[in-house]
Amino acid sequence: MNRENVSKDMGRCPNCGSLMVEYIDGEISDGNYVYTCMCRECASEWNEVHKLAFIGNFVENTQIQPSQQATEEHMTEKEKCKKFLVFNGWSMESASDEYDNYFKNGCIGVDVSDNELVLVGDYGDFLHMPINYYALIGALLEFRQISANYVSVSNNMELV
Ligand SMILES: [Zn+2]
Repeated sequence: MNRENVSKDMGRCPNCGSLMVEYIDGEISDGNYVYTCMCRECASEWNEVHKLAFIGNFVENTQIQPSQQATEEHMTEKEKCKKFLVFNGWSMESASDEYDNYFKNGCIGVDVSDNELVLVGDYGDFLHMPINYYALIGALLEFRQISANYVSVSNNMELV
């Protein structure tokens, strides 16, 4: 595209100097935004060329929700452990001052405190570990409470 730059006054007719400028059309061209302009006084036509500048990423739908992602990142280990248990079929059936007690039919129980995870079998507690989301998953795999041929439960369950 061959253009001659005849004026640097935005919104002003380069022929007669009038401000009665009509922006008829616009398109992206060569990395610029190019308006087609027309003067209402002298009927001249020209292109007003604007440089494009990156200013950020914006979304209008709900697929990306930075605020929710941030919330997930700031969950405590305890909250993450409890959420994992609930989403995998355990439910909180009792609680003491220190422990929330999670049960799942036919499975090992899990007691969750602020700083400890306790696995509880038919004969009582048999494994204590520091509260850690990944350690919980590892322990449940080790004791075959979640399986390598994993089948998820409903994802409509609420975090208790
Ligand atoms: Zn004009």
